[in-house]
Parts: sequence; C-alpha cells; structure tokens
Amino acid sequence: MTALNKRLLGFVSLYRWSHLHGITFSRSYGAIALLLGLLLIGQSAAAATVKNVRIWPAPDHTRIVFDLDKPVAHKVFSLSGPDRLVIDLDNAAIKTEVESLSLKGTPIGKIRTAVKKGSDIRVVLDLTNKVQPRSFLLKPNKQYGDRLVVDLVYKEKIAKPKVPSQPKVNPAGVRDIVIAIDAGHGGEDPGAIGPGRVREKTVVLAIAKKVESLLKKERGFTPAMIRTGDYYVGLRARTERARKYRSDLLISIHADAFKDHRPRGSSVFALSQRGATSETARWLANSENSADLIGGVDGALTLDDKDRVLAEVLLDLTMTATLSDSLKVGQTVLKSIGGVNRLHKRDVEQAAFMVLKSPDIPSILIETGFISNPSEAKNLQSSSYQWKMARSIVKGIKDHFNVNPLPGTLLAAEKQRRTANQHVVARGDTLSAIAERNRISVGQLRKANKLRSDTLYVGQRLQIPRS
Ligand SMILES: [Zn+2]
Repeated sequence: MTALNKRLLGFVSLYRWSHLHGITFSRSYGAIALLLGLLLIGQSAAAATVKNVRIWPAPDHTRIVFDLDKPVAHKVFSLSGPDRLVIDLDNAAIKTEVESLSLKGTPIGKIRTAVKKGSDIRVVLDLTNKVQPRSFLLKPNKQYGDRLVVDLVYKEKIAKPKVPSQPKVNPAGVRDIVIAIDAGHGGEDPGAIGPGRVREKTVVLAIAKKVESLLKKERGFTPAMIRTGDYYVGLRARTERARKYRSDLLISIHADAFKDHRPRGSSVFALSQRGATSETARWLANSENSADLIGGVDGALTLDDKDRVLAEVLLDLTMTATLSDSLKVGQTVLKSIGGVNRLHKRDVEQAAFMVLKSPDIPSILIETGFISNPSEAKNLQSSSYQWKMARSIVKGIKDHFNVNPLPGTLLAAEKQRRTANQHVVARGDTLSAIAERNRISVGQLRKANKLRSDTLYVGQRLQIPRS
C-alpha cells in the first residue's frame, strides 16, 4: 500500500466516522471525500496481476519469483506449528495455477493461494524445512517485467554442494590443483538467448559439468563447481566461493551473443588493467578483505594506517602477478580451443568482468561460441560438441599447469621427478660416458630414450633409467 493510499483511506474513514457521530463536514469537504473515494475505487480496479510464478531451487536457498504487471506492496512472515510462510500481496490478483508447480528439491510441501479482504492475495507455503525468508522487488529488464522475489534461505542445508572445502592431498603429501568451474548465469538470469529459445545458462552448465567430469579423472586436479543446477549465484558470491574452495584457477564458461547473427567463434577474456586497478582500490577500502588477502602473502601483517602503503604495494603485486597468470593460462586455453572451433580473436581479450576480479586467483572467462549464430547455437546444444569443447578446455588447463606447476602440488612433484632423472647433454658428452657415470649400459640408455643413433647434441635431454 502506498503512502498516498494510506492517507486517502485515513481521510475516508475520518469522513465515515464524522457521519456516524453526527458531525457534518461542509459540502465542499464532502464532495472532495466522495471524489477521493471514487479515486480509491479506481485504484483498486487497477490491481497488480501475478501473471506467472517460477521456482528455482539452489543448494542453499529456493527462490520464488512472482511475475507482475506492476510493482506490488507485500508482506512476508512465518508461522509455526506447522511451519508455514505467508506472502501477502496488497491489491493484487493471481492469474496462474500454483498447484501444478514442481516443488522438487525445495523446502515447500504445498502452495495455496486465497483472496483476502476482497482485493488482496495471500500465498501460503507449507514448509518441510525451516527457512529464513527474504524478499525484494525487481524492476523490469530485457527478459522479464516487474517481479517480486522471495528467497527461502535454508537454516539447515537440504543438499550439500558437491565441492571440496580442502583440496585433495595425495599420499605423497602433495596437493591437487583446484579448478573452480563457473557456469555463467542461471535461474532467473537466462543469459543470452539464441535461435529456438536456446539459453546460454543451459548450454554453459552442460559444458561446465563435462569439464568437471573430465577433471575428476585427471591425476593432480580437483574440480569445484560454482553452481550445479539451474539457479542464480551473485557475481561476488561466485568469486567468494572460488576463494572458499581455495581455487588455483577460476574458469567462467559463457556463450556470446550479438544482435547480428553472423559473428561466430570462441574467445577468452582476462581482467582488464583498469578493472584490476579499481578492484585493488575496493579491496583496500575494505580493510578486512585486505588483511585476509595480505595474510596470504605474509601471515604476520594486519592492516592499520601505517601498513596501508605496504598493503597497497603487496596487493598491487598480487594483482599484477594474478593478471599475468590469467593471461598466460588464457592464451594456452585459447590455443587449445582453436583446435575445435574458429577463434573470434587470436589473443586473450581483456575486460572488467566482475567474476574475474579475484585479486589472488587467476581467472579467465571463456566465450565458447556465439549462441546468436545459428550454426554455433546448434553446436553448443549438441552433446558431442559440448564434450569436444570441454576436452579442449581441460587440455588447455593441463598444458598450462604441466609447464607451470604450482609448488606443493602433485604436478610439481612429478615434474621434479622427471627432471631429476634427466641428463642434459654437455659439450664432449658421449653415450658410453653418460651410461658409465650412471652405472647403466649403453643399451639401457638407448632404449629409454628410443635412440636410433649414438649421435648426441648439446642441450639434448636424456632420460636416465633406474639401474
Ligand atoms: Zn554470459
């Protein structure tokens, strides 16, 4: 109810009250009151309409979205014994069936609606789990009109998200590299929409899940999904999750769109320098953030005024190193994707995408293709193409970390083992001398390195087999 409505109602009830008590207003006041009364009737005729209701279950909350033709005044409150949530919409009508909505994966047992006071709507949710409600109105966007959003935040998690809180540590005491996989958009946010209403959020989740299953099979890698179903995760929440999973890399998977259907090809983005600089400022403004982040660089630091300059320098260094890593891994992934799809741009592009703004986690955004291009939209929906794309992304990630293994990881230990058993040929070296020095036979040395002749060149790497 608007403030104006309240004032009008107050006036009308005062008018009624005065009549009941034999107090008469002057004729002009009466006329005004009558006019206002008519205005009110006019207002109630233009009630808001609930055109549709959508439900998005997520691992930590369920989102209910009421599609409206105009904003509505509302109230949300809980009742217990049994647990229910009541959503009252003032001056509204509902023109959709709520009984047929799928409630799978939600804490809602049943939804009922009723008309209240002739012109209001009451929606009652019978709950199977305790929830903390929160509600807000959303203004129209490209996809939807006015909306009322009611989130049921779970007090106890219904389904635990399948993500590691700690990277897997291998028997040798070395850890896995954690790759945070972010499927763009989700739930209320469909992302770009292509021919035949194909939605970006759907194809990118399918590709993300394939990347996850491939990485699970790779020794030395642990994948961590940022979202696992059709629900929305805020952009900041995505980077926070990546940090919580102690990710070594975040890849955000998207599909591009353009108003023209011709553009096609894949591209890879890293954060822009400008985005990095403004993010450094934001982190510094929030001293708790900075202390946490700098703590990763030097555990002894706390952030007060005299540490600010130092913090700024350290944060800047962290950000610069992260961005340089993002560009490096981005280029390798881009090159690998080039094996399965045409590239939109030859080099990693840079933009201030929010999801790339972790100061300490190298992050890349992959535009797998143009969903607005009919042939790429068709590809993106095909499971075999999704597998191809996923394999090329995983190959790019592996290629990067095999060359640049992170200290303390299984990949680093394996690389060290490989190089420890190598001999780099120097001037004057002969096969027999190297064999003798390593107490093996020339034959063993030849076999281990698949040598066809005994000619060596300076700088050649020879694998030394264990005798
Ligand atoms: Zn997108």
